[in-house]
Amino acid sequence: MARVGFVSLGCPKALVDSERILTRLRAEGYELVASYEQAELVVVNTCGFVTPAVEESLQAIGEALERTGTVVVTGCLGERPEQIRERHPKVAAVTGQADVGGVMREVRRLLPLEEPSFAGLLPLASDGGRPDARAVRLTPQHYAYLKIAEGCDHRCSFCIIPSLRGPQVSRDAADVLREASRLVAGGAKELLVIAQDASAYGSDLRHRSSRFAEREVRAHLVPLARELGALGAWVRLHYVYPYPHVRELVTLMAEGVLLPYLDVPLQHASPRILRAMRRPGGAEHHLRTLAAWREICPTLRIRSSFIVGFPGETEDDLQQLLDFLAEAQLDRVGVFTYSAVAGAAANALPGHVPEALAQERFERVMEHQRSISAARLARQVGRTVRALVDAYGALPGEVVARTEGDAPGIDGVLRCETDGTVRIGDLIEATVTGSSDHDLAGTWQRTLPWQPAVPRFGPI
Ligand code: SF4
Repeated sequence: MARVGFVSLGCPKALVDSERILTRLRAEGYELVASYEQAELVVVNTCGFVTPAVEESLQAIGEALERTGTVVVTGCLGERPEQIRERHPKVAAVTGQADVGGVMREVRRLLPLEEPSFAGLLPLASDGGRPDARAVRLTPQHYAYLKIAEGCDHRCSFCIIPSLRGPQVSRDAADVLREASRLVAGGAKELLVIAQDASAYGSDLRHRSSRFAEREVRAHLVPLARELGALGAWVRLHYVYPYPHVRELVTLMAEGVLLPYLDVPLQHASPRILRAMRRPGGAEHHLRTLAAWREICPTLRIRSSFIVGFPGETEDDLQQLLDFLAEAQLDRVGVFTYSAVAGAAANALPGHVPEALAQERFERVMEHQRSISAARLARQVGRTVRALVDAYGALPGEVVARTEGDAPGIDGVLRCETDGTVRIGDLIEATVTGSSDHDLAGTWQRTLPWQPAVPRFGPI
């Protein structure tokens, strides 16, 4: 059997692309192997979002070339083949992002299968869909990313995603829901909804309806989220922009249909910097929006990300961000220093901030938020929370879980003492007994029953 290795870099959106490619490889009869030494060919799914990610991708390509020889590059950086070939002229093929068909064509050309595999006759989800229940997943069985759209219609000045991934192309609601049902039926207890701008989902389809489980569902985030919530798994929304209809989503959170969690990338609080970023809003506007959401759903946990050291950022702008964070009391905050990306409009802006100063601002914001996070987590001590178990801990009987307020990989964890009966993927109830800057400690109370409500809708 022809043996293929795979390196997956980048964000959850790229991870979903990797899952699609791996699924097709396996379905066509390729053996997926875990080391360069075993592989006859390696596919590298790259990230090209910021300069450090480009460098990491180029290094990964170099390492794969050195140790295997035949390398196919795909992903965001694959949209700039000249940059790859300049550094690595021996790369065998380069395809663009989300180009599953292109990767498969190159793999078949470079590493033809000796015998066609019967596995290739197995039905797969359409190219527009995601893997079916047999599909390769790069996340544990109990949670899965659900990509509802590709591309982006915005033009944030620091970002080249729209030129790499093109305008937004949404999937029909029925397509998303069929995939979500397969994931839940296959054991996923948490669905993490992703897109570049999840709030804009369906606008390119004029929110047309499609038929799922005997009813019409509009391609709009509110009806889609309601249907997802009815499947019985946790539904967590990422990359939600604060459009007016987000209030309706927050209402669904208050009703228990969705997890009370919003990942809202605000990027800054200074209106002047936001204008230069070509993004709407400012501290006052953000604060009004957050207050309205919290009034609807007091248990809402909010995550956001910010860029410091953007061209033209002054001490006053930074202070506006610090003041905003103090007032906004966000639960989780990711901070990035501005990094010039080849092709981004922001490169032409005046007033680039020296790297050392940007780093100093990064540390100030992180320290500021650290104390906010610690105080917010301390308030949870004594409460009973639900959590999903991701791993076993270092101590006997200890598990590492996530509460409803924590997404995998980016937020904190709940370290929990148990009686030893708890397994990875279990949904548990625990009492919070302690807290630190970013994490919680707790004691297991009971393991909750799990009853998905996946509708029957014919063969998949
Ligand atoms: S919303 Fe802005 S930052 Fe996000 S992908 Fe689109 S252009 Fe980039």
